[in-house]
Amino acid sequence: MRGDVAVRDGVLESVGGTAQEHPGDQVLEAAGMAVLPGLIQSHVHLCQTLMRGMAEELPLLGWLQKRVWPLEAAHNEASLRASAELGVAELLLGGTTCILDMGTTHSHDVVFEVCEGMGIRAVSGKAMMDAGDAVPSRLRETAAQSLAESDRLLSRWHGAAGGRLRYGYAPRFVLSCTEGLIRGVAERARDKGVLMHTHASEHAEERAAVRAAHGAEDFEVLESWGMSGPLAVLVHMVQAGAEQLQAVARHGSSIVHCPTSNMKLGSGMAAVSAMLREGIAVGIGADGAPCNNNLDAWSEMRHASLLAKLRDGPASLPAAEVLRCCTLQGARVLGLQKEIGSLEVGKRADLLVVAIDGVHQQPAIDVVETLVHATRCSDVRHVLVDGRWLVRDGELTGVALEGLKARAAEQARALKVRAGLG
Ligand SMILES: [Zn+2]
Repeated sequence: MRGDVAVRDGVLESVGGTAQEHPGDQVLEAAGMAVLPGLIQSHVHLCQTLMRGMAEELPLLGWLQKRVWPLEAAHNEASLRASAELGVAELLLGGTTCILDMGTTHSHDVVFEVCEGMGIRAVSGKAMMDAGDAVPSRLRETAAQSLAESDRLLSRWHGAAGGRLRYGYAPRFVLSCTEGLIRGVAERARDKGVLMHTHASEHAEERAAVRAAHGAEDFEVLESWGMSGPLAVLVHMVQAGAEQLQAVARHGSSIVHCPTSNMKLGSGMAAVSAMLREGIAVGIGADGAPCNNNLDAWSEMRHASLLAKLRDGPASLPAAEVLRCCTLQGARVLGLQKEIGSLEVGKRADLLVVAIDGVHQQPAIDVVETLVHATRCSDVRHVLVDGRWLVRDGELTGVALEGLKARAAEQARALKVRAGLG
């Protein structure tokens, strides 16, 4: 559709047609560009951005135990801040305006402070871990400590920044959680109406370990411990069969697909087309920088499309469906579909203006195909969240990028040494 988009007081005032101009309005010409709802990545780890390139060529459990957990355990507030800043800068410059984020177990206020200051919309929660093999002592909590710290963070951050920040409980995965912890999460999430966000059925080796420990698939374990229903967000579900997907659909839980992460860790190909056929809300996310290595919604959309075609044939997961996973479906995963995810009057003005006149995109006859299969982060021109300009003419507003990158490099080197990997 061609037409104007008008924003007033952080909200979409009109979409399409010719907008009425008021004195003092800022007008942006967008010829040769597409205006989209801001992209939503419904699974990322801002705390891991500094670990980009530090955890290569390992499958999930080795990747966690040998690299990611020691690095997370070595984080201090300065390194965590640098990690979150680097991640949010990359996300915003690439047109991602909203994330569902899983932190590490400690110092999680820092991640919220960065999101508050840089303007991204975020549902985030500290990782929760009270069990598991090879968990460093700094990450190991008791269920009571983990629940108490999560509750404290929720009371400080849920609804902060005018509702732009929210809390979501984040037990890491079945292998790092006891029944008591998951039951505590499920009870609180239902009581407060907030999300519970976990990894599930990601890798064959993890699946075998869960079966050995509990005699069931991890989705079934989570369900039997109370973690199911519309507030449950299950990330990956690569190992899930048809029966499990039907159960997820029946319970109204949602799934997040992380195609690049699944390829890089050799986890497998998720049955995304089947998930959508079951009516499950499916979001897309880059996961963390050490399993990707970018936080780029455009390459995630392209990889989701290509991986589905490789798995189920070339007619699988058409471009429009992929784009929905990063917009309205992503908003459904977060329970925010009434506020964001589409260009509709009354929704929050989370907007993305992206060039579609690049030589790599021409002739751009089908705009949706162009966006999903031929567009790159570097094509993003302007990004607004709540009507506030966060990226203008391809540059972050109010952030000195060179300083941010230098801090990240310095903190990453020190982090690696503290983790014993330097
Ligand atoms: Zn993850």
